[in-house]
Amino acid sequence: MSQIPTYVTGVPNGTEKGLYLAVDLGGTNFRVCSIHLNGDTTFNLTYTKVAIPKNLMTASSAQDLFGFLAKQIEQFLKIHHEDHFEAHIRRRQTVTSPDGYRDEHIFRLGFTFSFPVQQSGINKGTLIRWTKGFDIPDAVGKDVCALLQQEIDLLRLPVKVAALVNDTVGTLMARSYTSPGKTSTLLGAIFGTGTNGAYVEKVRNIRKPIGGEYDKSTGEMVINTEWGSFDNQLNHLPNTPYDEELDRDSVNPGYQMFEKRVSGMFLGEIVRLALVDMLKRPQSTLFTDANSGTNDWKSTTTINPDTGLFKQWGLDSSLMSIAAADGTPELSTLRQELENTLGIYSASFEDAKAFKDVAYAVGRRAARLSAVALGAVVLQSNKLNESNEPVDIGVDGSLVEHYPFFRTMIYEALAAIEGIGPEGAKRIRIGIAKDGSGVGAALIALVAAGMEKNAVP
Ligand code: BGC
Ligand code: MG
Repeated sequence: MSQIPTYVTGVPNGTEKGLYLAVDLGGTNFRVCSIHLNGDTTFNLTYTKVAIPKNLMTASSAQDLFGFLAKQIEQFLKIHHEDHFEAHIRRRQTVTSPDGYRDEHIFRLGFTFSFPVQQSGINKGTLIRWTKGFDIPDAVGKDVCALLQQEIDLLRLPVKVAALVNDTVGTLMARSYTSPGKTSTLLGAIFGTGTNGAYVEKVRNIRKPIGGEYDKSTGEMVINTEWGSFDNQLNHLPNTPYDEELDRDSVNPGYQMFEKRVSGMFLGEIVRLALVDMLKRPQSTLFTDANSGTNDWKSTTTINPDTGLFKQWGLDSSLMSIAAADGTPELSTLRQELENTLGIYSASFEDAKAFKDVAYAVGRRAARLSAVALGAVVLQSNKLNESNEPVDIGVDGSLVEHYPFFRTMIYEALAAIEGIGPEGAKRIRIGIAKDGSGVGAALIALVAAGMEKNAVP
């Protein structure tokens, strides 16, 4: 795994204050927010969200994507921070160089960039590779903060990219700012479109060289594990034929192998591939008309062949949530949804039950693998032995938020891990850090701004 040092050397305690900007480029959406940290573990957040246009995810030049992001920041400032913006427009008429704006009117911005980055400072880092369906080769190896700053400067916005933040690091910081009690948070994790975790490690345990400046006073640094790439090219994890097919047809075969079994972008596709395989088996009666006298789905099926069931990515993971949540005796909600989203007309109870069982198997495996990642970090920290305090973990992402029983299944699996057990699992406190990446990015921008002030000129 990458195990990337993040240059973040401590977690907040809830007393931090100030107004910061944050942007979040993650998987599906781009968010721009301003965050007012009130200094009493609370915050106020204003944000806008746009879906990232599909063509920009695979654009030929990095400028296309980063230019779009800068435009969104401009829009946001115009609408939500007109005061700053007006002052800035007045200055724009008198100052010609973008550097002329780098003064007190400038917003510090935390850039949440949820892809693997080789960091070399708090606001510096080069892209290692894209994940989650993004593919812009032009950006690989470049400093993503510089790419964003360039486009911001072209628009002459009063904004300085002060911190580069992985969403897991943001989640860790946000959870630590808001979490109840004095216990500081150990780990931030995302189970959403992708999956990853970041945790607090003792600097003396970090074997990678850490170049450049960082605060050495805490003796700790947050490590971005990039656990989504566990098992890249290795094949330690058991494979099903569906895992293999999914990987073969992805934009990054052989990469993000752990993520491809765990995260929301992929689970629906695994279910879909399993169902299509079941349909094609000679004895299968799945989705067939029981009165037709034949088991050949092609001649008896009522499925519209143009719908998602037969297309790559055609089955959204949210359908798995619907299946898990449907507790009606006839599975009527699920049957209706199978029709609405996949064009499976007149699915029988048995059909829906089969769907539910396949989805459950895929979802449960994802939760148990998630528990392995979480449990490994808990064991590495030795926190269960060091004290009797709860071990605090902040999580975010569509799976933990919307997939019913995901957290319950994680706890079941944690209890089964040697070295944790049922007693240990009870002491692990997993809490949602809503809006974590935005708030967390603001917190890191705050720390970074402090470092600028302390810097020797
Ligand atoms: C990325 C990580 C990110 C995770 C969750 C993965 O695909 O490599 O950097 O934290 O998704 O968004
Ligand atoms: Mg995200």
